[in-house]
Amino acid sequence: MAGGPGSYLFGEEEKREVMDVLESGYLFRYGQADDPRFKRKVATFEKEFTETIGARYAVATNSGTGSLLCCLAALGIGAGDEVIAPGYTFIASISSIVLANAIPVLAEIDSSLTIDPDDIEKRITPRTKAILPVHMLGNPCDMDRVMAIAKKHNLAVIEDCCQSFGASYKGKRAGTIGDMAAFSLNVFKTITSGDGGVVATNNRDLHERAFGFHDQGHKPDRMGVEVGNRSIIGMNMRINEVTGAIALAQLRKLDSILDVLRKKKARLKKKLEGGTGYGFRKINDPDGECATLLTVLFDTAELAERFCARFGMRPIADSGWHVYNNMEQILGKKTGRAFNCPYACPVYKGDAEYRKHMLPRTDDILARAVNVSIGVVDKGLGAGAGINVTSTDAEIDDFAERFLKAVSE
Ligand SMILES: *Cc1c(COP(=O)(O)O)cnc(C)c1O
Repeated sequence: MAGGPGSYLFGEEEKREVMDVLESGYLFRYGQADDPRFKRKVATFEKEFTETIGARYAVATNSGTGSLLCCLAALGIGAGDEVIAPGYTFIASISSIVLANAIPVLAEIDSSLTIDPDDIEKRITPRTKAILPVHMLGNPCDMDRVMAIAKKHNLAVIEDCCQSFGASYKGKRAGTIGDMAAFSLNVFKTITSGDGGVVATNNRDLHERAFGFHDQGHKPDRMGVEVGNRSIIGMNMRINEVTGAIALAQLRKLDSILDVLRKKKARLKKKLEGGTGYGFRKINDPDGECATLLTVLFDTAELAERFCARFGMRPIADSGWHVYNNMEQILGKKTGRAFNCPYACPVYKGDAEYRKHMLPRTDDILARAVNVSIGVVDKGLGAGAGINVTSTDAEIDDFAERFLKAVSE
């Protein structure tokens, strides 16, 4: 089975929450407040999310992509604005910028497989409005450096937490460090409701705007007099009570899932340590990563290739969806309508462009990198092999043995 750890651990808890909704008759997130049958699953999820993550505000949405759009809209990022994002990420980090009419400017990654702070600085222009660091593969970016650069140049920071639900960086949960953050509840993420997402922020105004954009411009929870009080146009990215119920049950499992992942990863990593010809990616906060994956970094691309051929895997560089070189949606395109996007406007006259191999450092790292699944089993990430959240110690040891054998051959 492919999917994230939450999808492997569906059970009675999710069933009970969903039955609660079905028996109540209330499917819409807005119900009659004084009716005790209305269970407020979406609102409860948002409240418990803020308590779990430590953010002041949260809006549940229909996807991570939608959440990124809410962040961009709330921050007022639009036509002609540049947003710096890494070349190694899911297409949604880039396409959401295009959909906001803004310009994605791609930056290199470093050996943590997250955005390289040195390279961010080189790409700042007078048009730059925001940095979009992506906590890839459950591993937070070097947020101290990212935040210092943002402060120095007066840029907003949108954390893409879609692959790092629950991660933390120096004691703070991912998604509480920048101005805003986007989370995903898709089936390949830490926890899941099939699809879904969350916007998080500590800023009241940004929350209000994000909430309005996800609804039809309404104030949070549609409280108060609405007509004459809607300050933003919205897109309806709401979730319903059934999705909210599943998300709530999964959220309550988050910390136990992370605990299991970290233990399983530690066992596997220990077994693979000290082998020749490879090491592991840099982890910016070893205590804070989600441990959804183990990324092996071979000394050369040739070693990675040879290992993968024997093991039936692929290096990250050609494992599909998350590498800019493989994103035909943007390659060879300039900006505006050239993206084939009816919404993107042709206002921008800059020179951003998207070519294969425009990020040589990223290419070098990804050609040497191989993803082993710990909890996220996803061929699209190059992690079709490895272990999962239900693997036993014997299964972990068996995988380690086969891995070491393939390396030594
Ligand atoms: C999954 C993902 C998204 C988009 O999330 P969806 O819920 O699938 O829309 C955005 N960014 C990254 C890094 C992701 O992995």
